[in-house]
Amino acid sequence: MYCPRCNAEYVEGVTECADCGIGLVAEPPDPADQVAYVDYEHVLATYNPGDVALLKSVLDSEELDYYFDGEDFLYSTPMVQPAELLVRPEDVDRVREIIKPLHLTGTSLAHDETAEGIELADEEEPPASDEEE
Ligand SMILES: [Zn+2]
Repeated sequence: MYCPRCNAEYVEGVTECADCGIGLVAEPPDPADQVAYVDYEHVLATYNPGDVALLKSVLDSEELDYYFDGEDFLYSTPMVQPAELLVRPEDVDRVREIIKPLHLTGTSLAHDETAEGIELADEEEPPASDEEE
């Protein structure tokens, strides 16, 4: 099993990348797809599954390309990390205009290139041992 995003390989039975929180695929990712993923830009993050459903319906109706990172966490309660909306860089401005009037709750908009306003869950604990040096 492979992570389509970071290309990490996992043993059979693992369904989700520990780093990216996205579903694994059976085949190693195509390098072209890999680039496509990297090119996507973060627009917002939300802890609210209702927001995700709303955004999906809106973005689908606009026929925009997007995906949610960490969406699997929507099905665990409480959500341990937000689902992040990622879109193509050329669509970012348009998507922001579209989602602005939606009055989403539990959502942090990324105003610049990073989502500094939101506190992300501590998914990467710094090594407690002396692994650093
Ligand atoms: Zn990964």
